[in-house]
Amino acid sequence: PRLANQIAAGEVVERPASVVKELLENSLDADADRLEVDVEAGGVKQIKIRDNGHGIPQDDLALSLSRHATSKISALEDLEAVGTLGFRGEALASISSVARLTLTSNVEGQESGWQVFAEGRDMETVQKPAPHPVGTTVEVRDLFFNTPARRKFLRTEKTEFSHLEEVIRRLALSRYDVGFTLRHNQRVIHQLRPAKTQAEKERRVASIFGAKFIENAVAVDVEASGLRLWGWVGLPTFSRAQADLQYFYVNGRTVKDKLVAHAVRQAYRDVLYGGRHPVFVLFLELDPAQVDVNVHPTKHEVRFRDGRMVHNFLYSTLNRVLAAVRP
Ligand code: ADP
Ligand code: MG
Repeated sequence: PRLANQIAAGEVVERPASVVKELLENSLDADADRLEVDVEAGGVKQIKIRDNGHGIPQDDLALSLSRHATSKISALEDLEAVGTLGFRGEALASISSVARLTLTSNVEGQESGWQVFAEGRDMETVQKPAPHPVGTTVEVRDLFFNTPARRKFLRTEKTEFSHLEEVIRRLALSRYDVGFTLRHNQRVIHQLRPAKTQAEKERRVASIFGAKFIENAVAVDVEASGLRLWGWVGLPTFSRAQADLQYFYVNGRTVKDKLVAHAVRQAYRDVLYGGRHPVFVLFLELDPAQVDVNVHPTKHEVRFRDGRMVHNFLYSTLNRVLAAVRP
């Protein structure tokens, strides 16, 4: 079974960033609103994630490391409605098959926290009491220590960290209600408090992308016929070294979609940007029945029931917003 886990790990665990993504999704599934991520050496040496979610009871601790052990199977049927992010029940099993994993957790009403440790294929889980507040800490050390072929594909510490940071960035932009801390080699990289008001949200966006982005962006919030588009679109006065500040979310999920990209690009081009690369952080909200987000779990594609309507809405909204601020 551990070999099966390692094979499965190939799909789930590509690099430190994918470990972080899976672990943070688990924390959010557990209703955490405070996430602390500590990383060493780009995440290859260590990833430690601490959450204040509901935790894992002692009886389920070892089980949660075994493949297809998910507490979320009942949610599978109405996945979209529930909004559960992870559902395969193999992330922890896969990660522990290619790393040294320590899972410490505590739940309300339990006398103390408990900890399990698993390492590589020949897992022998050792369980012991360990002090921990309600919530969970997962520590992943020495990623791919037992799969040298996979380890070879890792890039420099800097590159791995930038992928990892991007995962945090994407999540932090979609979950303003959650506080995030990211440290790399003991240095604080992001410290993001939960944000409620528009000003607080803008502070978060500024702290992620720099104050210049918000200063040179126009806020959008338009609702029409069941669709809402909100967020920020950058003005041509804002220029960024790398032209990759393009974040689009559909019902809270990050999306890279041709239809969306086309509508946005066309609006920019038609109003004021000429050939420039648009920058934006935008959130589209619509009736979940109007969109299929499970086209592919990792490709971030969506399928709209009425693509033409969505395209028109995006195009005309952005067109109007940008025209209003045309210099
Ligand atoms: P999945 O998330 O697909 O169910 P995972 O392997 O990621 O599978 O996690 C296995 C199980 O462990 C989850 O179903 C959940 O019950 C539990 N779990 C994992 N991480 C956490 C966490 N941070 N807080 C609470 N429970 C967790
Ligand atoms: Mg999961």
